[in-house]
Amino acid sequence: MSRQDLQARSESDQMQTIAFDYIIVGAGSAGCVLADRLSTCGRHSVLVLEAGGSDRRFWIKVPVGYAVNYANPALNWGYRTDAEEALNGRACYWPRGRVIGGSSSINAMAYVRGLSHDFDDWAAAGATGWDWKTVRDVYGRMETRSDGSGGGPVWVQDLSDQMNPFSKHFLAAAREAGHATPDDMNAEGAEGLSYYRSNVRGGLRWSAADAFLRPALKRRNVTLRTQAHVMALQFEGARASGLHYERQGKIVRVEARREVILSAGAISSPQLLQLSGIGPADLLRRHGIEVRRDLPQVGEGLQDHLAVSYQFRATQTTLNAILGSHFGRIGAGLRYALTRRGPLAVPVNQVGGFVRSHAQARGPDMQLFCNPASYEVTPEGKVVIDRASGYLLSAQPSRPTSRGHVRIRSADHRDTPAIRPNSLATQEDRDAAIRGGRILQELAKTPALAAVSSGCKIAGFETMDADALLDEFRARASTVFHPTCTCRMGNDDSDSVADARLRVHGVPGLRVVDASSFPNITSGNTNAPTMMLAMRAADLILGDAR
Ligand SMILES: Cc1cc2nc3c(=O)[nH]c(=O)nc-3n(C[C@H](O)[C@H](O)[C@H](O)COP(=O)(O)OP(=O)(O)OC[C@H]3O[C@@H](n4cnc5c(N)ncnc54)[C@H](O)[C@@H]3O)c2cc1C
Repeated sequence: MSRQDLQARSESDQMQTIAFDYIIVGAGSAGCVLADRLSTCGRHSVLVLEAGGSDRRFWIKVPVGYAVNYANPALNWGYRTDAEEALNGRACYWPRGRVIGGSSSINAMAYVRGLSHDFDDWAAAGATGWDWKTVRDVYGRMETRSDGSGGGPVWVQDLSDQMNPFSKHFLAAAREAGHATPDDMNAEGAEGLSYYRSNVRGGLRWSAADAFLRPALKRRNVTLRTQAHVMALQFEGARASGLHYERQGKIVRVEARREVILSAGAISSPQLLQLSGIGPADLLRRHGIEVRRDLPQVGEGLQDHLAVSYQFRATQTTLNAILGSHFGRIGAGLRYALTRRGPLAVPVNQVGGFVRSHAQARGPDMQLFCNPASYEVTPEGKVVIDRASGYLLSAQPSRPTSRGHVRIRSADHRDTPAIRPNSLATQEDRDAAIRGGRILQELAKTPALAAVSSGCKIAGFETMDADALLDEFRARASTVFHPTCTCRMGNDDSDSVADARLRVHGVPGLRVVDASSFPNITSGNTNAPTMMLAMRAADLILGDAR
């Protein structure tokens, strides 16, 4: 809807105005945390606006349902990036949750804190107070681990006793290739391969909505509006004073007595700022949007993880024997129904971790995934499991240095923005892509894996040289769904969008709190760092309110 249309509709009788202390845009990983933390004391009224609908769906709750939801348009924004020359002209599919819980309701549930230097780098980039020592304590408060330690709302479970027996071959291969196999990759200073920890509780996905939003909604001072698509912010002078959202054909105006907090994720948060006149002035003018604040870094600095996967045929049974067969699925379904355990209760990412890809690395710089299943993903995003047993080895350079952008294509809030990851733009990233392939070649040729394999599905993988490995990466590497940094924290307008308290530079009453706030991408999966960031952000917001 254009600005003029909006003006006309706002003056019509369809308009209602209501006020809350805090308005949170997006009930995703960060938004759910904020809803809980900002409402606990009972002094503040909190409104959460979510464009999607209910998360009470079978395939959201059952951990293996990840593959079913991957491309479901009812739960998903289903973005596509611009075609990238560095990826052989491919336009990659970027799922993002559009449902209560946001991407934490459709993600693969791997729980990875990130490495200590990731957060020390945040602090060095101007996000003072986000160093590892500080954030480690926040993680400590947030988690309940399998041994019952922690006592926080986020369940971080060790499901290794239910993982496919084939997974033990990966750990044996890791040891033979010279990697450590710590008990838990989230332990201080751990590196090497181990069983992933997962956000699962009692055999069900434990999303940010389960951990934070549901308890918050029991309080009278929290209101959740679903199917509420936020269109743009409103201002009183320089201050963000509220916003408009569209719901079931009506436009509703809400006022924020204290603050508006954008937690709409790394694509939508910069899009909403730009639609509201906060962003690079030339971009806004090009789309006929009045410039409220020329903030050149809004939407810039995008970072994501790319991973390349190689699939192998196995001579021993893997998950394919269960998930790829009708009878296997019935058996697993019955077991799950009766016990909430077994193959359906465990995410498909089972073994992996962080390794060093070269001797000079300052720490682990490559994340590996070893899944006891092989499958194809169709161009439409449908996951098709192979009938024959197989497995997958995957390498993901942990700290890419390329940065891209998210930019609106028009002033219409329903238009998806242009997403340009700018993949493999630096020599460092191209070298890392090759080193990732080499690590997988070394793992594949270990006696432990060679003994249970009958070859890679990509012919000639074992003997590929550097050029061939880079070509493979360009042809097949894909996102592992970790867009970050598009409204990053930092020092000032020249290098960032917000300060270290997540306040948008020069716009009182407005913060951005979500994966877009990361100054740099963390080495691993981004859900745990996003929830941690929101936990600490809530402390800062409440501190400022006092
Ligand atoms: C398929 C997939 C698999 C993943 N696997 C893992 C994994 O295994 N482990 C891991 O750690 N991380 C994983 N991630 C990444 C992780 O889930 C995200 O980094 C994290 O959820 C981001 O949180 P967020 O709060 O920034 O955004 P989100 O959780 O995406 O929340 C944003 C919310 O805002 C809403 N919203 C957006 N725009 C508007 C608007 N205009 N009006 C109203 N509401 C709006 C959205 O609908 C959404 O609910 C995965 C992500 C995906 C998509």
